[in-house]
Amino acid sequence: MFMLNTLYKEMILEHYKRPRNRGVLEEATVIQEGTNPSCGDELELYLQIEGGVICKIRFIGEGCAISQASTSMMTEAVRERTVEGALELSQKFKAMIHGAPPAEELGDLRLLQGVSKLHARVKCATLPWTTLEQVLRTLARLEGETKRELG
Ligand code: ZN
Repeated sequence: MFMLNTLYKEMILEHYKRPRNRGVLEEATVIQEGTNPSCGDELELYLQIEGGVICKIRFIGEGCAISQASTSMMTEAVRERTVEGALELSQKFKAMIHGAPPAEELGDLRLLQGVSKLHARVKCATLPWTTLEQVLRTLARLEGETKRELG
């Protein structure tokens, strides 16, 4: 447990100091804002989705170390996944943060399991995933509407 705890802290600090995929994505096809008022975390997700696959994902944002690290890790985990696959992963991640045993598929994300014991930080860790779900669901709805319009 001590080892896991140390790894967990190192991982969060590492991603917080050197976030992956940080910055604006000029060629983004969709942009979504997300906030966690209870902690003051803010983020903006930029996604380029082609043929149902998340080709590129970037973010900008401000907030606590857990929210920033979780966002950085999320962008790495969903890049090059299908929209469906990303939504599935999100469900698994959220289940873990809410106390369920972590799914194998979560990979390195499993190191964030410790957050499930810090109730005040649960929303910090899930913010990027909730924001991602919002944008993917909006997209699915828009596509559905376009298909209906085209008959
Ligand atoms: Zn936070």
